[in-house]
Amino acid sequence: MEPTPGNNVLLPPGTIGILGGGQLGRMLALEARRSGYRTAVLTDEPKGCPAGQVADLEFNGSFTDPALLEPFLDAVDVVTVEFENIPDECLRAVEARRPLRPGRFAIHTTQHREREKLFLRAQNIPCAAFRIVEDLAGLEQAVAELGRPCVIKTAAFGYDGKGQAKVTRDTQLADVWPAFAGAHAVVEQWVTFEKEVSVVGARALDGSNAVHGVMENEHADHILDVTVAPARLPETVAEQALALWRAVAKGLDYAGTLAVEMFVTADGEVLVNEIAPRPHNSGHFSIDACRTNQFQQQLRAVCGLPLGDASQHTPAAMVNLLGDVWPAPHIAPDWTPILSHPRAKLHLYGKHSARPKRKMGHFTVLGTDVERALRDARQLQAQLRGGV
Ligand code: AMP
Repeated sequence: MEPTPGNNVLLPPGTIGILGGGQLGRMLALEARRSGYRTAVLTDEPKGCPAGQVADLEFNGSFTDPALLEPFLDAVDVVTVEFENIPDECLRAVEARRPLRPGRFAIHTTQHREREKLFLRAQNIPCAAFRIVEDLAGLEQAVAELGRPCVIKTAAFGYDGKGQAKVTRDTQLADVWPAFAGAHAVVEQWVTFEKEVSVVGARALDGSNAVHGVMENEHADHILDVTVAPARLPETVAEQALALWRAVAKGLDYAGTLAVEMFVTADGEVLVNEIAPRPHNSGHFSIDACRTNQFQQQLRAVCGLPLGDASQHTPAAMVNLLGDVWPAPHIAPDWTPILSHPRAKLHLYGKHSARPKRKMGHFTVLGTDVERALRDARQLQAQLRGGV
């Protein structure tokens, strides 16, 4: 169906196209289905991917294959993304035929660390001091200017700490450069942060927005381990984080659910680390603890509807379930501790086999306060690991 020109609103049973087949697409498709929408997933994963399992249609193959892209676009009314590393050629082809929300500018900017950093600099949004480098001489100069420690990150397609190297006092730059050679890299000053936080929220087509608040994130091996919501922060610091989210959303002329990860330094300064043009792992608690969750908000924004009330109704802690807690690739852990806790909610992503560091699911524990939710969550996590 060709969308009516000038009419931005898509009502059920319209079809939402989702680029990407992972768990974020799955949770969006579930939300869409609940509200009577149809979904079509375009993914480079094989048939039966996490989002494909719950979508009405699943297209599998290359994002840039017109033989796949054209029938996908024929089937959908509007398109969104569940991960940002979509080839620009695909984004252009989508944009030419259907509304793409968020737009190509937002996705293109945030899928590439160099463009993202230059965007932050241009918008005067605080982030760690950085340099863009393209050869060993540039790296040497950048490290001399920024000081040690610092961190080198690939400009393109990095996530969860992949494509990163810390430069310490003893690091020989000539030894680490070969891993980054051939493309641009971003060198960042090391931030001695007190906390890592994120803000997840949505911006509607009319520019109005609604956020779930500020969350506190703990990582293990560069992968999110636990999110505590709301973050335990002084009001003034939380305000700064919310203001930075708004600045990023406006600067990107954003439509959809947007996540901004930040560092909070010891003196209460807030710096943007990363932007994700989609729902985010640190926003999963919103399914169980907010009045309108991040996927429902994405759905509303993408369909041109007014946003819901994003506020949190109950303190919560969310724990990621990585493949590491699976006893074997096809043998799930004993879920009894989580299933028998009256305020714990288990979410599994339907991935066929587990491997270390793979995000297989999460659970959220609600509490009368965050300390209690976090204590229970940590206890359940230890039980799953067989520690208790
Ligand atoms: P990223 O992939 O950029 O989100 O980085 C993954 C993790 O590495 C972050 O969550 C931080 O824990 C750490 N990290 C990244 N950049 C810096 C930095 N400039 N200073 C200190 N820690 C960092």
